[in-house]
Amino acid sequence: MSGHDGAVLALSGGIGGAKLALGLSRVLPPERLIVVANTGDDFEHLGLAISPDLDTLMYTLAGLSDPERGWGRREETWTFMAALAALGGETWFQLGDGDLASHVERTHRRAAGETLSHITDDFCRRLGIGAHILPMSDDRVATRVRTPVGWLDFQDYFVRRRCAPEVSELAYDGAAQARPHPGFMAALADAGLRAVIICPSNPYLSVDPILALPGVRAALAACAAPVIAVSPIIGGRAVKGPTAKMMRELGLPVTAAAVAQHYDGLVDLFVVDHSEGEITLPNMRVSKAAILMTTLADREALAKAVLTFADELRAESRT
Ligand code: GDP
Repeated sequence: MSGHDGAVLALSGGIGGAKLALGLSRVLPPERLIVVANTGDDFEHLGLAISPDLDTLMYTLAGLSDPERGWGRREETWTFMAALAALGGETWFQLGDGDLASHVERTHRRAAGETLSHITDDFCRRLGIGAHILPMSDDRVATRVRTPVGWLDFQDYFVRRRCAPEVSELAYDGAAQARPHPGFMAALADAGLRAVIICPSNPYLSVDPILALPGVRAALAACAAPVIAVSPIIGGRAVKGPTAKMMRELGLPVTAAAVAQHYDGLVDLFVVDHSEGEITLPNMRVSKAAILMTTLADREALAKAVLTFADELRAESRT
């Protein structure tokens, strides 16, 4: 027996990853799901500790997320932003009134010495989330991008400049010194783990910061459970966000196969959309599924498909 028998570990960024994480949380007993969230986007703004991907996951799994935007809370009000603007405050980063409570409470507890993972765990429990959402690390990691105007902090690039500057390089400041969350590493090392799923998140902005933590690549490569990644690229396009633009700027073809190559050596099976042509890759299998998640049913169907692929791989490796 082990602590993670039948558990599924998902690596996720924000919006794309949270869609599949929600599907997984609905087709699994939720306590069997561990979602490791990117915290490379975390930053301090107006004195507040903001963790965008953790919050997107938290609101999504709690049924509180805004269905149109994908980030923030549904039925949000914006009194704070309007009042802030009237006072001449910085308004480039939108903070809804309800969302603000998360940041204020997180900041207050951090200042009192609580870890990010402890706070996240408590928020999740209070919001009725059965799955475990873990920050990739309790230590600070900051994603930055190199552009013609110099190295930019992530939110400056992503929100303030709307991803307009061309990206030539990425850095994950602090990653080499950060400790991956012990729960994350324990799950990877557990022979009872059912699957590791790399969600369809931005490979450079959301997944690479997790992979940059010491020991994570080696632990994934050595992991007994099948490692499956779902493509964020469908038919040569990203569903949302700057993934495709970034791939072009980094000199890569904007294809699902190029994302698969990016995960070479880590992933056993790569899931692409049914609409893709034949893709063969030297070191990994490729399977097809309906990977565009528009409805809740799409999220659940993809979660089921990915778990079926994982169970098939596990059964094979045992014969
Ligand atoms: P962010 O941190 O909020 O930017 O979100 P992620 O990194 O988790 O997700 C961004 C990626 O999700 C983009 O590359 C999108 O192409 C991808 N994405 C969004 N929705 C879907 C979807 O329904 N299916 C798939 N396969 N990818 C999606």
